[in-house]
Amino acid sequence: MVWGKGLARRLYGLTGVVWSKYLDIDERGRLIVKLKGYKIDIAKLVSDKQLPGAHIRILPIIRYMMDQVYEAFMEAFRKFGYKGAFKPVYPLKSNSTPIVVDTIWRYGIKYSWGFNAGTYPEVKLISKYINEKPRLLVVDGIKDNKLLDLLSKMCDSWEIIVDIESMRDADLLSKYQDLNIGLRVKVTSKSSGLWSHSSGLDSKFGLLINTLDEMVEKHPWVPNRTVLLHVHAGSQITDKNRLEDIIRETIILYNNLVKTGFKNIRYIDFGGGLAYPYIEASNHVFSANYSLNEYAEILVKELVKSAENTPDIVFEGGRYIVAPHRITVTKIIDTRPYSTSDRGETSYPIVEEIKNTENIKELVYVSRKAREVITRLMLKFPINIESRRILEKLLTSINEAITSKAYEIIHRDNDKALEELIKTPNYVLEELVSPTRRFFASFSLFSHLPDTIIADQYFKIIPLQRLNEKPEVLGVISDLTCDSMGEYSSFITFLPNNIEYETEDLFTSLDHKLMFIPGKTLRLKGVPLHIPRKNEDYYIAFLDTGAYQDMLSMNHNLLNGYPEIIIDIINDNLKIIYENLESAENYPL
Ligand SMILES: *Cc1c(COP(=O)(O)O)cnc(C)c1O
Repeated sequence: MVWGKGLARRLYGLTGVVWSKYLDIDERGRLIVKLKGYKIDIAKLVSDKQLPGAHIRILPIIRYMMDQVYEAFMEAFRKFGYKGAFKPVYPLKSNSTPIVVDTIWRYGIKYSWGFNAGTYPEVKLISKYINEKPRLLVVDGIKDNKLLDLLSKMCDSWEIIVDIESMRDADLLSKYQDLNIGLRVKVTSKSSGLWSHSSGLDSKFGLLINTLDEMVEKHPWVPNRTVLLHVHAGSQITDKNRLEDIIRETIILYNNLVKTGFKNIRYIDFGGGLAYPYIEASNHVFSANYSLNEYAEILVKELVKSAENTPDIVFEGGRYIVAPHRITVTKIIDTRPYSTSDRGETSYPIVEEIKNTENIKELVYVSRKAREVITRLMLKFPINIESRRILEKLLTSINEAITSKAYEIIHRDNDKALEELIKTPNYVLEELVSPTRRFFASFSLFSHLPDTIIADQYFKIIPLQRLNEKPEVLGVISDLTCDSMGEYSSFITFLPNNIEYETEDLFTSLDHKLMFIPGKTLRLKGVPLHIPRKNEDYYIAFLDTGAYQDMLSMNHNLLNGYPEIIIDIINDNLKIIYENLESAENYPL
């Protein structure tokens, strides 16, 4: 077995641009945050204060992401000789937690990073910031006089652009001549990914061209006052071709508008959509098939190629900036068997048949037969304790026999067996990636990771200790709510072909479940974890929970709020601040 730090890093996905820089595994197998030469043991931060868990906010990561985005665009500008300016704005809805907004505003001075707000409270939050040099504030959403009055008072500190998205907006804005306007237009190119409904003619926001025509007729001032063209085709656009379509369509719109009297448009705002890599594998709904640099290059290249003149580029990504800054840590407080118990041991003809198979092909065939036996039995069995006892034992014996036979064959036939195993969907593979344990953690998915419920969002999970030991079992993570949706069971592995490993490394050490196949993306139905020892504080972390999760947080079962641990580097000194500790009392320890 060559299990160790290298394989652990790959299995848990600590390989991308962010996590290869900020997270590491120390000699004792503990996960640490690396910041300016400081090494911070994450589990210790939580266990020192006897907490059930915490949101750990690493503020330098926000600044790093801002730098990365800015640099990527500067590089693309240089590469294509683009003469326009880069105008980033941060969309508050991605995360308007005060410390996050404050971090972006402060660090944003050097890049003149502005904001995008969609509601009155978001504008109010931003109104308290006074800029020496005005920064962009792009306002979209539904407006009223109260909002526009407030914006009118903010013009010294902010270069305000209010989107017009309907005739109502134009009517309202005719009374506010000091406010510049933007046109938010719908794009017809459909984007891809979980949030694709934000694009298309039937999308919620944006103007139809016919409405724009009517508007210009009724309000002839619209073309002159328009300084920005705005599109937003949805968050997390994962497909590069779709992205290119959207950019091209927007530039054509821009050219047409400039030609038909909108002479003052000087900004193109391509909206959000820059996808954050929730996993490292490309061509997957949770990560893009393009890099940050490619994203910037696509935008700039298309503008150089096709745009009438040289508009400034407004970048409105929020997810990419804030997703990695929050790590959600939670303590495991109980483990239970998943669906069958640990002790099968009963001998049945079908179990013997499984044990006598000689290769994967045969095993696949017999496993299907075994499933059919179980299904038939379930229909026929009387509902009483004795029949439940027999059924549970039989099911356990079958599952164990399939797993141990596959384990044996893969050890003997290696690559050949693996190839056979993944050729078609089958019960053997399904069983090999199925969990055997339920891990109850002291948290609420509804409160801390709501997008797992709302949008089936994927988050990486990693244990905070024992990373030098091979995982023992596959487990489902269950939360504290009395809701069966409060479970998280997804774990995607993608390890390249050229890694060094032995067959034994493919399997968890206790239940012999399959963790990865080199060169293949494998979606496990449980997370590779260790069984907590007696009196051991065993913590797990969900990575990349910094975008949207704070704002969407639900209050299911009255579980809301979590301790916060804010980590920052100020003048090269490490600063760790604990907040909201009183919320800990709502969670079992
Ligand atoms: C939500 C939203 C964004 C943020 O997009 P992300 O891709 O999630 O960063 C940007 N602009 C507008 C108009 C939005 O509604």
